[in-house]
Amino acid sequence: MQNNTKDIVSKYNFKFTKSLGQNFLIDDGVLKDIVKGAEVDKEDFVIEIGPGVGTLTKELLKEAKKVLAIELDSDLIPILKEELKEFPNFEIINKDVLKVDFNDLLKEEDSVKLVANLPYYVTTPIISSLLKGNHKFKSLTIMIQKEVADRIAAEPNTKEYGSLSLLVQYYCDVKVIRRVSPASFIPRPKVDSIVIRLDKLNKPRVDVKDEELFFKIIRSSFNMRRKTLWNALKGLGINKDLLGEALQNVSIDSRRRGETLSIEEFANLSNNIKELL
Ligand code: SAM
Repeated sequence: MQNNTKDIVSKYNFKFTKSLGQNFLIDDGVLKDIVKGAEVDKEDFVIEIGPGVGTLTKELLKEAKKVLAIELDSDLIPILKEELKEFPNFEIINKDVLKVDFNDLLKEEDSVKLVANLPYYVTTPIISSLLKGNHKFKSLTIMIQKEVADRIAAEPNTKEYGSLSLLVQYYCDVKVIRRVSPASFIPRPKVDSIVIRLDKLNKPRVDVKDEELFFKIIRSSFNMRRKTLWNALKGLGINKDLLGEALQNVSIDSRRRGETLSIEEFANLSNNIKELL
């Protein structure tokens, strides 16, 4: 595998748009590790978000049954079509990924894997909508900012632990594949990156009766991190006696802070509140 990202950028005189998070990969070792880490094979239908000039796309096309790439920057579409014309299994959609209806797009497919060097400015909304949407993805292998990866993989009682950790760990197993330095991209981003793989669980990690309530309780618990659970949850508009009873029923001390609760404890608490409501 040998990338020609720099040659393609200069051949088409491509101008980077910073606001679109355009940092293109130029490191063959990283490319190899992403493709290997994603475990893509000939059965797989791959969705790639933000193909750029097609560096990662080309490697995925060699391994997968099909690669469907979604790119927002219309200047990149003719470049991708020309550079990847030898691959009949390549398709491109010129659209904002947040506006794509994946349920419709993937209705005929069984084995779908998402692979992407994500535009960092929309990492969290993309992950959140891909997971909550209950789409057919088996796994998401994504390059993201190190700081976001740390939050995703965090355990209780750490400063990184929060709503994002719980959202991702509710739906997925998290595996860190490797760290990537700014020197692996053009232009260089200001931050370190991490490649992680999120393997969708067959069913969510904990049994939750009302997901909306579960995530609402989680968000409130972390909104004001220094507050006790009692003070954070008071703002939810739930009757105080009921809240006190629920906390007692599930043996959670109301003076604890949200960041000390495990995912099981959040599930028990929200299920108990739901029952009492
Ligand atoms: N995959 C290429 C690589 O690894 O070299 C480029 C990755 S670059 C970090 C992110 C890509 O996402 C850019 O091509 C950018 O134009 C595209 N992008 C940014 N926002 C997008 C959005 N909302 N929907 C789809 N693509 C987007």
